[in-house]
Amino acid sequence: MRVIAIDGPAGSGKTTVARAVAARLGVEHLDTGAMYRSVAFAALQSGVDPMDVEKVAELALHLRIEVDDRRVLVDDVDATDAIRGPDVSVAVSTVAQNVAVRSELVRRQRAWAAARGGAVMEGRDIGSVVLPDADVKVYLVADDAERARRRARQDGAADVAGAAADVARRDRIDAGRAASPMVVAEGAVVIDTTGRTIEQVVDAVVALAESAKGDG
Ligand code: C5P
Repeated sequence: MRVIAIDGPAGSGKTTVARAVAARLGVEHLDTGAMYRSVAFAALQSGVDPMDVEKVAELALHLRIEVDDRRVLVDDVDATDAIRGPDVSVAVSTVAQNVAVRSELVRRQRAWAAARGGAVMEGRDIGSVVLPDADVKVYLVADDAERARRRARQDGAADVAGAAADVARRDRIDAGRAASPMVVAEGAVVIDTTGRTIEQVVDAVVALAESAKGDG
């Protein structure tokens, strides 16, 4: 099994790069951020306070989450667009601090990877916790202004200052939490995507994958 782990903060280019790398290598891609977003979405939908550790954990345990490159289904409801909305973006990092939620989602992520011959997985803790034996580990970074611009563009919003605030707030919570904080995993290659084209970054990751294959 060949697994490529792509981690990094919001707006670093993870999803775009992970999708393109998976397409080049002919393997599937899993956006684990969409899974945390799905839990936050379900909590908000059912009136559960995202801070309520026990209720959110209980909900996550029984939640059906189906993520692929086209859509996200949460208990069979199409939540593809809703999980990207501002309410979910505000709640998601709180939900992602929940230890029980993390262990349930990590279990599912490992099962997903084990069922495939090779895959690209992206998130915050893939190289450090989910798949520490991944063949290739990449940590993408980009400068703050660039990340805010990308996030605003993705959300179809003109509010770059608002996007900057959201990104900074989530960075703070994601890097500061006790459970599986966002870190550069041991052995990860840090790639700065600022001012580089998608193509250049994808080439760099594919080259790492090819050389890992040669080593193995
Ligand atoms: O990747 P994205 O920005 O959509 O992730 C949304 C949130 O989900 C992150 O800000 C983080 O709180 C959480 N997350 C996480 N671990 C992952 C992926 C995402 O904690 N592996």
